[in-house]
Amino acid sequence: MNTRLALLQLYRLSVLLAAAWLIRAHHARLRAEGDRPVSVDEVRGWFTNAHALRLDVAQRGGFFVEDDAGRALGYVVRTLPYADKIIGYCGVSDTLVALDPGLRVLGFTIRWSEDTKTHVGDVLTDRHFKKTWNGKTWEEVAAMDLKQAGVEGVSGATMTSLAVAEGVVHRFRAAQGELRPPPVRLGTRDFGLLLAVVLGGWLTFTRQPGRERWRRWFHWAVIAYLGFLNGDLLAQSLLAGWAKSGIAWRIAPGLVLLTAAALVVPWVTRRPIYCQQLCPHGALQEALARHAPGHWRWRVPVALDRALRWLPSALLAFVLLVVMLPLDFDLAGLEPFDAYVIRSAGAATLSLAVASLLIAPFVPKAYCKYGCPTGALLEFVRGRGLSDRFAARDAAAAGLLLLAFVLQRYHTTWHALLFGPAA
Ligand code: SF4
Repeated sequence: MNTRLALLQLYRLSVLLAAAWLIRAHHARLRAEGDRPVSVDEVRGWFTNAHALRLDVAQRGGFFVEDDAGRALGYVVRTLPYADKIIGYCGVSDTLVALDPGLRVLGFTIRWSEDTKTHVGDVLTDRHFKKTWNGKTWEEVAAMDLKQAGVEGVSGATMTSLAVAEGVVHRFRAAQGELRPPPVRLGTRDFGLLLAVVLGGWLTFTRQPGRERWRRWFHWAVIAYLGFLNGDLLAQSLLAGWAKSGIAWRIAPGLVLLTAAALVVPWVTRRPIYCQQLCPHGALQEALARHAPGHWRWRVPVALDRALRWLPSALLAFVLLVVMLPLDFDLAGLEPFDAYVIRSAGAATLSLAVASLLIAPFVPKAYCKYGCPTGALLEFVRGRGLSDRFAARDAAAAGLLLLAFVLQRYHTTWHALLFGPAA
């Protein structure tokens, strides 16, 4: 690689890392400034006569729940800030656990979460998971080994629920003075992802005869296993969540490996391993186009093609705004990927998935070309060989980085301008 190309690739990687760092710093500050104190209303589901919360200044650091005569009704404890390094699918969660006066668990709720809303909803409505600690003493929760106890997580929201479980145990241990980082969870799913990355890598680089036939079979496996069985797709909600809260390498090491391969392989070798081999939605669009009769193909007019190709980058800019401003927008609804976990998919995600698959036989991979911000992000870091040069997308990336910097640096001013002064 000559020096000019090396510098260009270094520039792209630096832009990406700098943007991630700005998002992280911004959200660390927001978390520190907005502590979201627990209110009496939040505990009335367990303690109907709750009138006041009194801080427990002892090591447990929770709140005594009292009635209007000052009698103790029970106790509540939240998992943040102790569990702020425990990241689920794409962010941290603040869980509130209620205990009776004898300090036996009555139940829990998630009071606030950066994780995908539909996943949090699934955790809160899973009756079996909600009873995980019911009846247990403080010491029993603190001593719990979740794997040995058979806590498997909620189907469709496995990472979110496991992070909630890890967070609760971690918080109870903190009060016992037995704080240790939660263990790295290596499971079948992680080894499945490792195998997928290895096979995807082989298909990306091999020149063996029969490669195309193997690739087609591999795509069906990717659609079934990474897509419908596990929902392991890269998405803006996931990447933005990791940028905000940190990378979930303890809970989801396999997904971290998939992400690293998706970014590093095209950066170093120019081969888009994820989009070509490992993305279930790309694979499904490709299969639909392959099996459609040739006369169905529709040629997109050049002017329309040019205009639409900007859409993924515009969506990336929108993602940045959502992440840096306190906009109440669920990023999962911006892409079709959550539709693979059908149980927890929202209406916007499902509509996008159906629309992008319906158009695929007529305009192959139309969604990839004209709608996918994740594809645009992966494409941005991809090297392009000797013909590569500083292009419009590199200038646009610098513009977005500058925007992130201004939003981070002058957050208070922006916030006051857009939403009025903070109360
Ligand atoms: S462009 Fe988007 S949908 Fe298409 S293969 Fe890449 S990540 Fe998947």
